[in-house]
Amino acid sequence: MTQTPATSTRPHPLLVSLGLVDHPRVVIDITGNETPESDGIIVVTNPSTGEPLAGVRLDDKDSYEQTTARSVEAFKKFRLVPAPKRGELVRRIGVEYRNVLEELGSLLSLEMGKIKAEGIGEVQETIDIADFAVGLSRQLTGITMPSERPEHTMKEQWLPLGPVGVITAFNFPNAVWGWNAMLAAVCGDTTVWKPSLLTPLTAIATNMIAEKVASEMGFEDIFQLVIGTDDVVGETMIADRRYPLISATGSCRMGRRVGSVVAGRLGKCLLELGGNNAVIIEPDADLDLALKSTVFGAVGTAGQRCTTTRRLIIHESIADSFVEKIVKAYETVNIGDALDDSVLMGPLINEQSVQQFENAVSEAVKQGGKLMTGGERIDGKGGHFVKPTIIRAPANNELPMAYNETFAPIMYVFTYKTLEEAIDMQNSVDQGLSSAIFTGSSNSAQRFLAPTGAGSDCGIANVNLGTSGAEIGGAFGGEKDTGGGRESGSDAWKVYMRRQTCTINYGTELTLAQGIRFE
Ligand code: NAD
Repeated sequence: MTQTPATSTRPHPLLVSLGLVDHPRVVIDITGNETPESDGIIVVTNPSTGEPLAGVRLDDKDSYEQTTARSVEAFKKFRLVPAPKRGELVRRIGVEYRNVLEELGSLLSLEMGKIKAEGIGEVQETIDIADFAVGLSRQLTGITMPSERPEHTMKEQWLPLGPVGVITAFNFPNAVWGWNAMLAAVCGDTTVWKPSLLTPLTAIATNMIAEKVASEMGFEDIFQLVIGTDDVVGETMIADRRYPLISATGSCRMGRRVGSVVAGRLGKCLLELGGNNAVIIEPDADLDLALKSTVFGAVGTAGQRCTTTRRLIIHESIADSFVEKIVKAYETVNIGDALDDSVLMGPLINEQSVQQFENAVSEAVKQGGKLMTGGERIDGKGGHFVKPTIIRAPANNELPMAYNETFAPIMYVFTYKTLEEAIDMQNSVDQGLSSAIFTGSSNSAQRFLAPTGAGSDCGIANVNLGTSGAEIGGAFGGEKDTGGGRESGSDAWKVYMRRQTCTINYGTELTLAQGIRFE
């Protein structure tokens, strides 16, 4: 029996308007049953409905090889282009993204399942980093330092590094590439992007725009994509010495593998891995502000942000009343299709994520956690929907499940007596990405941010705002099992360049450092 092609006659309008239907990688006439092994195609589904959207043709080792070889050749030419001119390239790319902001953001929501406001916000983040990178293109400055030798000068300069391999997670299928690629471009590097197989359509649409602008300016092959399985493409890329830098965003499991393979060839790695982020709420906090921020941090993107609030650590004197309020707020959250404007929480990415959510809830309850709200999947809507969930830890605060990052909207609640106890609790997990405190006391805030390092041990520490929703101006990333990488603003650009220390003798004598005489 022949199966009817699932999407042949009516591709989604966003695939048409963004030009994906004409892209050689995108296959519209699919049955929905294609596999990487038998057809070399991955089927992309809409997590809000469970329906197939399109097929995407995968790279094999040969096409990976061709892409990488082109990137190496393109790098040799691109590094000769003056940095401000590379900035002009990035400026034009930012303009193109502005022109398709709503459509590209909507495609992202269609494919990934974050609500439209967040989908558009993610593309806005790429525009913001493009703007940042334009300014940076005139500020890739080194320093000079005094030489100890007469008639010598010393300076440091920053040079283009080479092709950068960018591996991204499914939940940020546009902005994480933007953070990397916009900075890499002004630094004179080419990028080859390996996106998640769960969200390749957004990656194709995003990269296509950058590629087109680059080609129009005569810079072919600056931005390329490889889409393939981890076995065939991912593993080959991380072991490939032609990538001096691998920037990898994803789970701690992936980071351990990527980190060890890249270290084995003495390459550089920028790791942006999982989080297990907590909010501490002091009794003197503005509780309305804390409530709104915590709900956004825990429920936004259906708990599928690396910076999602996964633990609430609240002073025992206000815990019962605050939990009661937050449970009420959770029950008003409108859950549904990510493209529906009235929806606040979309689906999880797939059925496997729903099962992981269910397993985490049942395990936490077995361990003595008390389910305050949610805890179950929502059937009958077609997509992968679950209820946002709050689980309160037992009085002794022992709840081993809370040490895992389950990529779903589950928040565990703990109580404390002293701020020291709360900070210890917040620092007690393996990951160290984002953290927050709500307090009206500047002393408590300062203790949380203590310059001694005795406060939060995370890469991000916020006062009176939640754990998620970072701006591009700061360096983004975390410590411990989060991998130690920093991306985006501040001086994160330095990782995309190589540092060179130059000493120049403008005299006629040979003078050795440390006063060594060699005569
Ligand atoms: P994942 O680890 O399953 O996959 C991430 C990427 O790594 C994908 O592109 C995947 O194909 C690739 N990958 C996996 N194994 C590989 C290998 N051996 N070689 C090469 N590539 C390999 O993660 P996910 O489910 O897509 O995303 C969710 C995770 O990402 C969460 O843990 C989340 O916290 C984390 N994340 C972190 C940040 C951050 O900035 N810290 C941002 C977004 C997501």
